[in-house]
Amino acid sequence: MTTTYHAGAGRYPDDAPASEALFDRAQAIVPGGVNSPVRAFRAVGGTPRFMVRGEGPWLFDADGRRYVDLVCSWGPLIHGHAHPEIVAAVQEAAASGTSFGTPTPREVDLAEEMVARTPAEQVRLVNSGTEATMSAIRLARGCTGRTKIVKFAGCYHGHVDALLAAAGSGVVTFSLPDSPGVTGASASETIVLPYNDVAAVEAAFAADGEHIAAIITEAAPGNMGVVAPRDGFNTRLAEIAHRHGALLILDEVMTGFRVSRGGWAGLAPVDADLFTFGKVMGGGLPAAAFGGKADIMARLAPAGPVYQAGTLSGNPLACAAGLASLRLADEATYRRLDETAATVSKLATEALAAAGVPHRLSYAGNMFSIFFTDADVADFDAARTQDVSAFKAFFHALLARGVYLPPSAFEAWFVSTAIDDDALEIIAAALPEAAAAAGGSR
Ligand SMILES: *Cc1c(COP(=O)(O)O)cnc(C)c1O
Repeated sequence: MTTTYHAGAGRYPDDAPASEALFDRAQAIVPGGVNSPVRAFRAVGGTPRFMVRGEGPWLFDADGRRYVDLVCSWGPLIHGHAHPEIVAAVQEAAASGTSFGTPTPREVDLAEEMVARTPAEQVRLVNSGTEATMSAIRLARGCTGRTKIVKFAGCYHGHVDALLAAAGSGVVTFSLPDSPGVTGASASETIVLPYNDVAAVEAAFAADGEHIAAIITEAAPGNMGVVAPRDGFNTRLAEIAHRHGALLILDEVMTGFRVSRGGWAGLAPVDADLFTFGKVMGGGLPAAAFGGKADIMARLAPAGPVYQAGTLSGNPLACAAGLASLRLADEATYRRLDETAATVSKLATEALAAAGVPHRLSYAGNMFSIFFTDADVADFDAARTQDVSAFKAFFHALLARGVYLPPSAFEAWFVSTAIDDDALEIIAAALPEAAAAAGGSR
């Protein structure tokens, strides 16, 4: 069946007939109509837009509307959509076969590029960030012979059973305290602490230190909205973990290769034992990794006893896209991402200030988000003081004016180097009315 997509001007707010028809079909055969919960627009209401094409800074939906993309596939697309060099790399790889189930040269190239940029001495490639954190935790438990894991409220590490406790991203968007299907045994091995609270970490280790295998933390959280670690927080985590014989797992799935060429660790070095990566390193295809100190990684099969495997791990197309994306990401790329993030966030905060809407801009490298609250946000409880109805109004007003934000108040906004003057003009023109809508929602 071929579907043709017309290019027409829609009416505000909800005239998206092609998306609506697709969503009807999807809901009949896919739970909730989506393959990842936050895509469903449940936090903001309305029909999710079905996107049919991306080009540079733009997304095009099934109704022929164009949007400036401030989601960038939830982080991966630092160079924007369909970058010619990434497309060419994938095409070239595909033409030589899509998967071999053997080692391939591109895996070595990608791993070398990652090791050159980050503190990780060795990496193992996997297919998703979830797999990366799941495997890193297994390895930490295997190395220490301990069972418990410390995580922070509001940090999201994928949908690993043990890490779904008090998680951010879709889990907070839908106010799920935890998920049915996660066993009590699995959840009971997880100690959830408030973010940015060193005293709570000290206390947890004082009480239970000999059973804790690892602390896992987002290098800089972006899944409860953006909340930067306080100065020295990650370093203190490493010190406390090491003093008690535990490991520190720095989850760089979102920050890795986005906030600097070496990720968050490139901005604020920390003595972590294991790192997890995903998103940018796949260049928009499914690729992720975990890595770290060589003596720890040596415990992984087949070099060591901790089992981990994947039929499609190190897939040639994903490695080609990731490698092209990383090779394009030079110092100029990161300068531009930083500048664009500063420009967009300034436009947004100025518009909200002019409309008298209480808000806090929250920054970590070039990731940022806006909390609709006048409280300072350093942890999940503070993030949840925000007025989600103001965000909802803001989101829909921007959507109707061609700006695509994450459809949740608890997600980072992402820029790409493809955002040009035309895209900025659309954002600047849309923001005053969106800010007024946010103000009017209260
Ligand atoms: C996105 C994300 C994950 C999960 O990655 P998936 O590829 O969606 O499984 C894990 N950790 C962090 C910090 C993330 O942002």
